[in-house]
Amino acid sequence: MAFWRKNMPVEMFLRSGPDWHLDGKGEHTFEAFFEERGLRPEDFDPIPISVFLDYTEWFRERKRLGLDERLVTGLTKPNAAFVATMDDGTTITADKVLASPGIGYFLNLPEWYAEVPAARRSHTCELVSFEALAGARVVIIGGRQSAYEWATLLCDHDAAHVDVVHRHSMPTFAKVSWRFVDQYVDQTLTHRGWWRGLPVERQRAIAAEFWQVGRLTLELWLVPRIPDAVVTSHPGVRWSPQRSANTT
Ligand SMILES: Cc1cc2nc3c(=O)[nH]c(=O)nc-3n(C[C@H](O)[C@H](O)[C@H](O)COP(=O)(O)OP(=O)(O)OC[C@H]3O[C@@H](n4cnc5c(N)ncnc54)[C@H](O)[C@@H]3O)c2cc1C
Repeated sequence: MAFWRKNMPVEMFLRSGPDWHLDGKGEHTFEAFFEERGLRPEDFDPIPISVFLDYTEWFRERKRLGLDERLVTGLTKPNAAFVATMDDGTTITADKVLASPGIGYFLNLPEWYAEVPAARRSHTCELVSFEALAGARVVIIGGRQSAYEWATLLCDHDAAHVDVVHRHSMPTFAKVSWRFVDQYVDQTLTHRGWWRGLPVERQRAIAAEFWQVGRLTLELWLVPRIPDAVVTSHPGVRWSPQRSANTT
């Protein structure tokens, strides 16, 4: 959960609900955590990230999972076994390796990013606390959930003005259901290679479903936290290096 702890704002809310959990066996679910703690899921809508992180820690304890916080810096297979080198120089030898290094490596920086002075720019991965931006004028490039949630968090921390600039039109703010995903998760669990075996058209249709719910639609609970007096949206606008060079 290092990414959740270090690269997402402490005050962020989840898009997913209490029915999404970590346990493939369906035993130590998020709902089981609520029940054991005497909490009611309906009191957490949307769910603060802190509640989910408490759940993951509870899950780890219940599953008796050890935690090794070292970084794997290299992986080789000199013979029948794998050898992983850790950042403290020690190694771990194993017959099998499951690599799940996650979403951090998909960070995508636009070409002009390097042209903006380092002290004045941040990727959403890096900008996870907002106190220092009280009173600041901020421009957010991008217009999906992260962009608008970061705008609300800036408002919560008294930014003077926030401009949200995006190439696409205004997204829709609506209550969405992620229930459609359940059937695909079930298929993935019961039929090995299910996704890979689907016809390309079917894969595209499923991807479009995710796009519609996750990207074209943003969470309705953002709306009351985005005051018109502070946040200005600029749909259909492409941010260019020339513009950034002229902007302080
Ligand atoms: C802003 C934001 C909001 C989101 N909201 C939701 C939500 O509401 N609901 C939801 O279900 N999902 C949400 N997601 C998506 C969710 O975070 C990802 O789908 C999920 O974290 C992917 O899990 P993962 O284990 O594949 O990767 P990660 O969570 O990225 O975990 C990978 C882990 O591997 C570690 N690692 C990487 N390289 C090494 C190495 N060399 N050595 C040792 N460790 C290493 C990392 O430190 C990290 O802890 C959100 C994502 C973002 C960015």
